[in-house]
Amino acid sequence: MLMADTSKQNFNVFPRECYVDMRKICRSCQRPFIFFAAEQKHWFEVLQFYVDADCVHCPECRVQRIAAKRACQRYSSLILLAKPTPDELQQLVDASVLLHAQGTLKSRNRLGKLKNAALRLIPDYPGTLALIDALGKKDALPPNQGKGI
Ligand SMILES: [Zn+2]
Repeated sequence: MLMADTSKQNFNVFPRECYVDMRKICRSCQRPFIFFAAEQKHWFEVLQFYVDADCVHCPECRVQRIAAKRACQRYSSLILLAKPTPDELQQLVDASVLLHAQGTLKSRNRLGKLKNAALRLIPDYPGTLALIDALGKKDALPPNQGKGI
């Protein structure tokens, strides 16, 4: 258990007097995790989160959600560029692969166009291969189909 410094907390009625490790179930992956007392102290006294804020995602899912959010922001701004530089195109490819893997980005038409641009401008970039791979997966026939056993 950790004692709280309530003067640093952001609260309406009741501050948190102390922090104890809490067992939680992740809202995304349903796995159990512990919201540690030290983590709570950081949330409420350093980051100034409102004291009633609840932690609902496990650390792994939190990292993934932050990465997805960043990829989404990057994708949204880069996709608007008429002539992206090779560096911008690399970032766009990476963001697209991540969003596609998560099921957020579904337009195969857009991904196909991006793949063509990537093949022209950054053919040796590893992300380009990952994009081709991602696009190829859904087209691939399931094993044993079309082989005429
Ligand atoms: Zn999780």
